[in-house]
This record gives sequence, structure tokens and C-alpha cells, in this order.
Amino acid sequence: MSRVLIIGAGGVGGVVTHKCAQVPEVFSEITLASRTLSKCEAIRDQISRPIDVAQVDADDPKQVVALINKVKPKLLINVALPYQDLPIMDACLETGLDYLDTANYEPPDVAKFEYKWQWAYHDHFKQKGIMALLGCGFDPGVTNIFTAYAQKEHFDEIHYVDILDCNAGDHGHAFATNFNPEINIREITQRGKYWENGKWKEIDPMSVSMDFDFPECGVKRAYLLYHEELESLVKHIKGLKRIRFWMTFGESYLTHLRVLQNVGMTRIDPVMYEGREIIPIQFLKTLLPDPASLAPGYKGKTCIGCLIEGVKDGKPKKIFVYNVCDHAECYREVKAQAISYTTGVPAMIGGIMMLTGAWRGDGVFNVEQFDPSPFMDRLNKHGLPWHVQEM
Ligand code: NDP
Repeated sequence: MSRVLIIGAGGVGGVVTHKCAQVPEVFSEITLASRTLSKCEAIRDQISRPIDVAQVDADDPKQVVALINKVKPKLLINVALPYQDLPIMDACLETGLDYLDTANYEPPDVAKFEYKWQWAYHDHFKQKGIMALLGCGFDPGVTNIFTAYAQKEHFDEIHYVDILDCNAGDHGHAFATNFNPEINIREITQRGKYWENGKWKEIDPMSVSMDFDFPECGVKRAYLLYHEELESLVKHIKGLKRIRFWMTFGESYLTHLRVLQNVGMTRIDPVMYEGREIIPIQFLKTLLPDPASLAPGYKGKTCIGCLIEGVKDGKPKKIFVYNVCDHAECYREVKAQAISYTTGVPAMIGGIMMLTGAWRGDGVFNVEQFDPSPFMDRLNKHGLPWHVQEM
């Protein structure tokens, strides 16, 4: 019997819960907990299998410890926000529980995400004989696994990786973010960064772009951003000369973002408003659509993949490994849009890898450190089929 405890009942949490419920042979019992109990109940009511729900403030490790002791899970899947990563990891350490997440820790007062805080837990997890799997969504997550798969099956040496994330969907709102608005806007408005010839290079936000012809989505303009999988792939893929991350944005999205930035609405420092402190980006979040609410009526597709160049048998080789996901199909299956779906399905598959022992280790790991093959098989089985295009 393997009970899983899922923390976070947002867009991604809904998908993880639905998908775990589809695999009862691994996830024999499910508890979904979050800050707002009614959100857990709404997800529970969409699913025909019984799901337990609970309220927890995951900023407080004591509350998470008490919940773990009550529920007694075999694995905790954290799909709350990156701010909760460390308190939840502390609770897992205290109770001896395996841990999985999809986004790396960032401190609330600095828009800076790095693995250093979570990698620092490696020895503690190792000593305790438990495992943490970091960044097991799509990007990071599947993009790391695509790279590890290319390394295993297609290349003797990988030299260049461009991770390309395209959302060609239309949700009908003038401006909305596809996952948590605060986390999303912090990510996009910070300086861009990529790695080349052994060094990190910084650029102004959104100052470098290129057009790319995405399968089933067409030619779209993609902008160079810093993204967390770059940090772990630089560490784990040997022989790399350059790695970059690109994401597509429409003109209207960029115009809205520019205006919001210009008027100060994306600031993460407190300002005084009518005698009390507010943080503009948090206020903005309350005005923007909840990412989960975008799902009904969302049309179009996403295409996320890795363009990889290197050498095989002494000859140059270039491939694009990718997945295409359809917003409306995701809604039909699990009442979610494709961004939540492409994040939640890999988190569920990571859970299968850990609970079945297909991936095992004591300590803190990134997904590319394990054999990609069983994960790649599961992607095809659980709704995220992938393709390889020789370029
Ligand atoms: P949402 O904002 O929709 O959901 C976040 C959920 O976490 C909400 O239910 C929220 O509760 C809950 N939460 C927030 N703070 C706490 C707390 N202190 N204690 C307990 N629960 C809390 O975000 P998404 O579902 O879109 O994203 C979830 C995670 O997935 C994020 O970390 C995001 O960065 C990551 N992600 C990863 C991707 C990848 O490919 N790797 C892609 C997209 C997202 P409440 O309802 O009360 O606010």
C-alpha cells in the first residue's frame, strides 16, 4: 500500500491528483492538502475514487510534520509554491519521508531561483536514507529527461542544447499567466542568463529572441530566459559547450507586461498603501485569473522540446525531442489546461519511479541523474507522447 500526500491544490495539484487516481496499483491511497481546504474539496469532487483532503499551511514545518504523522504517506509530492520547498523538505527530514517537487526554492524577497538551497540538503537526506527528486515537472523535468535520453540513445557527446517552450494556445483573456502569476512574472522579469564555454552570460530581460518553427504550432518568436534546469544540466551533462532556454510570448502579453512593469505593479518589495504594507505583485495576483480557471474554453496547443546538437559516431547530428499537448483535450480528461497538465503528469510519473523503486537513491537528485528510459515509456502511456525529429 502506497499512500501519497500531495500538497498544493492549484492548477498543477489538480492534475497530479487526477493522474495519481488513474494509477491505483501504485497510488493506493491519496491525500490532497493545501492552504485552502475548499480547493482540495473541489478537486476531490471531480474524481470518482475516494480522495482524502486536509488543510495545511506549508510555510510552517510543524504543521506539515503533524499532517505527515497523521496521514503516514510513503511519498510527498509538493506542488504548492517554490517558497514552501524548504519548510516541506524540513518536515520530510524530520519524519523520514521521500520528497518530490516541480520548481526550485526561491526566497520571497529576492527573485532568484537556484538549486543551492535544496542541494545543501543532500547529506542530510542521505544520512536519513531518504530521497528527494527535484524539478520533476515539464521544464524543469521532462526537458532534463529528454536531454538525458538524447545522451543515452542519440549522441556520443552533446555540445549544444536549446530548450524551447511554446504555448500557442488562446485562453481568451487580455492578460493572464498559465501558472502562478507571482512566480511566473518574477521568472520573466529577471535578467536572462545562459551558459557558454564554461561561463554564465547575462542579458537584459527579453532582449534576445529568435523565430522557431514549432511542430503543430507554427513559427513563433521565442525569448531567451534563465530557467532552472540550465543549472543542473550544466552540472550533469558532460561535454556541453552551450545551453539556453527560450519561451514564446505574444505581442499583447509583452505589451501588458511592459506596462505593468513601468507602473510598478510587478515590484516584489513592500509599498505603503492606506497605512499598510502591500507587495504590488501579490496585489496584482489577486486581480489576475487563477491559472486553473483558464482551463474551460482554452484552445490550441503547446509544444515543448529540446533542440540538441552534438556528435554520433564521429559525425555531427542534430535532433529535436518534443511533446505537443492540446489544451482542450487536457480539459476533457482532467479539467485542466495544458501548462498544468504538462507539469502534473511528470510529477505523477516521478512518483511512480520513486514508489516502484525504478529510480532510487539516498540524497537529493535532479531527474537527469537517473535512467531516462522507464520515464520516457511512462510519458507515452500517461498522456504526454514524445517525438524525435532529425534536423
Ligand atoms: P497555483 O497558484 O495554481 O497553485 C498553488 C497552490 O499552492 C494553491 O492551491 C495554493 O493555495 C497552494 N499554496 C500556496 N501557499 C501555500 C502554503 N503556504 N501552504 C499550503 N499550500 C499553499 O500554482 P500552479 O498549480 O500553477 O503551480 C504549482 C507549482 O508548480 C508552482 O511551484 C510552479 O512554479 C510549479 N510549476 C512547474 C512547472 C514545471 O514545468 N516544472 C510549470 C508550471 C508550474 P491557495 O489556493 O490557498 O492560494
